[in-house]
Amino acid sequence: MLYVIPTPIGNLEDITFRAIRLLKEVDLILAEDTRTSKKLLQHYEIDTPLKSHHAHNEHHSTPGLVNELQSDSKIALISDAGTPGISDPGFLLIRACIENGIKVECLPGATAFVPALVASGLPCDKFFFEGFLPHKKGRQTRLIYLSELPVTFVLYESPHRLIKCLTQLIEFCGEDRKVCVARELTKLHEEVSTDTLVNMIAHYKDRKVKGEIVMVVAGNK
Ligand code: SAM
Repeated sequence: MLYVIPTPIGNLEDITFRAIRLLKEVDLILAEDTRTSKKLLQHYEIDTPLKSHHAHNEHHSTPGLVNELQSDSKIALISDAGTPGISDPGFLLIRACIENGIKVECLPGATAFVPALVASGLPCDKFFFEGFLPHKKGRQTRLIYLSELPVTFVLYESPHRLIKCLTQLIEFCGEDRKVCVARELTKLHEEVSTDTLVNMIAHYKDRKVKGEIVMVVAGNK
């Protein structure tokens, strides 16, 4: 059995009772960065063995993990924060498990885009999740595609590219399109604001932007 277990995106209380119990019960926890995960595991007094499973080794390590799971091991997959598989490693192992008849259970839990989308005040009955845009090649093609979507769309962005991203969104979506910047969700300096793209640039342009960011952009009317 493979358990896919969401972990907090900031506030350590954002983890379920079942997640903690399973992290204690499994034979092995696969973590993206074992040093990052150790802090969470120590906080909840979880001493299950940890092994690293990240974007750079997942192709190589997946067959061995499938073998372990086939010999009745219970394994949990976590990422540094949020839900594995959402802009994080997970997909390859989950697909390999399904192809090999291994049961996969994903617990519901923390992920950054859901609170950003809901708190944005932009329509969330239908939405499109883009995650990270490519930095260079293919970026413009994605921006054209996104700008024409009739539904709200969600981007993950790093703070030092926020202004560049807002500027490009103006280019493709127009300065009056609504955007929500959700920064440092669940953390001490959480800031969620929704405004037009042009006003959002004015809000952020003279500030040193820090922390993690989700951008939620209104669809094309
Ligand atoms: N697996 C995660 C999830 O379920 O949301 C996403 C991991 S991805 C590598 C990291 C990105 O998620 C960050 O660059 C940021 O865009 C977003 N993110 C993660 N934590 C956040 C937070 N506390 N506040 C705002 N955005 C966050």
